[in-house]
Amino acid sequence: MNYDVIVVGAGNAALCAALSAQEQGAKVLVLERAPYEQRGGNSAFTGGGYRMIYHGLEDIKKFVPDLTEEQIATTDFGEYSASQYFDDLGRITQYRIDPDLAEVLVHRSTDTVQWIRQKGVRFVLKYGSAAYKHEGRYKFFTGAPVIAVGGGRGIIDAQFKAAERQGIDVRYKARARSLICGRNGIEGVRATIEGQAQELRARAVVLACGGFEANREWRTRYLGPGWDLAKVRGTRYNTGDGIQMALDVGAQPYGNWSGAHACEWDLNAPEFGDINIGDGYSKHSYTLGIVINNNGLRFLDEGADIKNYTYAKYGRLILEQPGQTAWQIFDSKVAQLLHSSYRIRQVTKVSADSIEDLIGKMEGVNKAQALTTIREYNAAVRKDVPFNPNEKDGRSTSKLAVPKSNWAGTINTPPFVAYAVTCGITFTFGGVKITPAAQVVDTEEQPIPGLYAAGEMVGGIFYFNYPGSTGLMNGAVFGRVAGQNAGRYAHRPQGS
Ligand SMILES: Cc1cc2nc3c(=O)[nH]c(=O)nc-3n(C[C@H](O)[C@H](O)[C@H](O)COP(=O)(O)OP(=O)(O)OC[C@H]3O[C@@H](n4cnc5c(N)ncnc54)[C@H](O)[C@@H]3O)c2cc1C
Repeated sequence: MNYDVIVVGAGNAALCAALSAQEQGAKVLVLERAPYEQRGGNSAFTGGGYRMIYHGLEDIKKFVPDLTEEQIATTDFGEYSASQYFDDLGRITQYRIDPDLAEVLVHRSTDTVQWIRQKGVRFVLKYGSAAYKHEGRYKFFTGAPVIAVGGGRGIIDAQFKAAERQGIDVRYKARARSLICGRNGIEGVRATIEGQAQELRARAVVLACGGFEANREWRTRYLGPGWDLAKVRGTRYNTGDGIQMALDVGAQPYGNWSGAHACEWDLNAPEFGDINIGDGYSKHSYTLGIVINNNGLRFLDEGADIKNYTYAKYGRLILEQPGQTAWQIFDSKVAQLLHSSYRIRQVTKVSADSIEDLIGKMEGVNKAQALTTIREYNAAVRKDVPFNPNEKDGRSTSKLAVPKSNWAGTINTPPFVAYAVTCGITFTFGGVKITPAAQVVDTEEQPIPGLYAAGEMVGGIFYFNYPGSTGLMNGAVFGRVAGQNAGRYAHRPQGS
């Protein structure tokens, strides 16, 4: 079988590429390294939120047409403008983000989520961590108010169904190994499919096969010492193959190769993600409590910003603590606000009716220091400022070496609970350079004919940190662009 376009990978970026290449009339083959049951890469592990531009209720209705009267009456949907999106991307990446890629990401966001909806993905409102119920009302505050039904699994299943409808071929246990170069540029892929080495010819190739977060050796090499000890939140199959394949044909390495998205993750989670638990090992409600290390000391500002702007950088700080361990401590005043991931059966926690008993149960913690830390923290909380979980409320601590800048509540109402966490790596930030048309470029900025890339394996988008729900959006926007341009390229008149 001859294909016009081969897409390497089968996550959100790859499937968007495959669907959009087929829309151009291309005959498309998807190569998925994972077996069928584990298909979908990190995308299948996600909560399913896309960060996009929207303006209030009327725009939300385009994604969730069946809102109830009660939802409309009790919710402030807010808005997220293009300028807020640019500001967040700039601020969070310390103004390193490639401005040309940022333009495409922001301006194609809403339209791409609509396109994904047309492919069969359904959306609901993301109540809970994106809008708490406070004084009878919800207020969205994250830039990602809707979430796919079924989370990441729901997105992937719907995209695979669409691929089937559109006649796209998919091969599982198909690991791409290298690119075939010919007179016209990239002309196919060498792959091992179910153990058999094969050469597959195509007029264009889209690489969308993830970063190198699941490669312990590359993690240590590029992110630095200690990263070998991080747990992988998602798929085990993203080991940097696509990046290596592209570098081997001269692609330009780009972006923050020493950076990664990493967050607070259950201490006893398995080495790689478990698709049946999905994102359940995440522990992102730290804004509502305090975090201490085994020395009994706080070491980060839990309330520096809303969770979406801090969680992806705090994993690195946890990795630097003794035993790569930390404890999140809450009292009963905020228990009902903790994310549902705190209520899964596979959780590492201790609880008690007094702080002393709680600390007594926290194995490995310096007990005297932990007690002092909590007492000093409680004394420093500014009780004159009202608590509001739906915005940066300015309820802070005063005169602590490590401040808590918002949502500072005293820890004094039993029962008390502490969750043990470590560093879970999500994905790596470094990759290859692409043009706004998703063409991979070489070290002299020239597009490599026939080669496109999208998703995690592209560098230049995220540096140091990450605004929540941008990974899926990035993969979808550039996957769609890559597929469209690969499809057009494959159908170009011969010789042009
Ligand atoms: C637990 C968790 C929760 C997350 N929650 C969110 C969220 O709510 N919102 C958000 O925006 N982002 C979220 N993310 C980040 C998000 O998953 C990624 O940014 C995004 O899904 C990456 O998409 P991708 O298509 O580039 O990569 P992936 O989805 O990882 O797909 C890569 C694909 O390539 C395949 N592959 C790898 N090597 C080869 C090879 N040699 N040959 C063939 N195939 C290969 C893999 O098997 C996989 O199918 C989360 C991530 C995790 C792990």
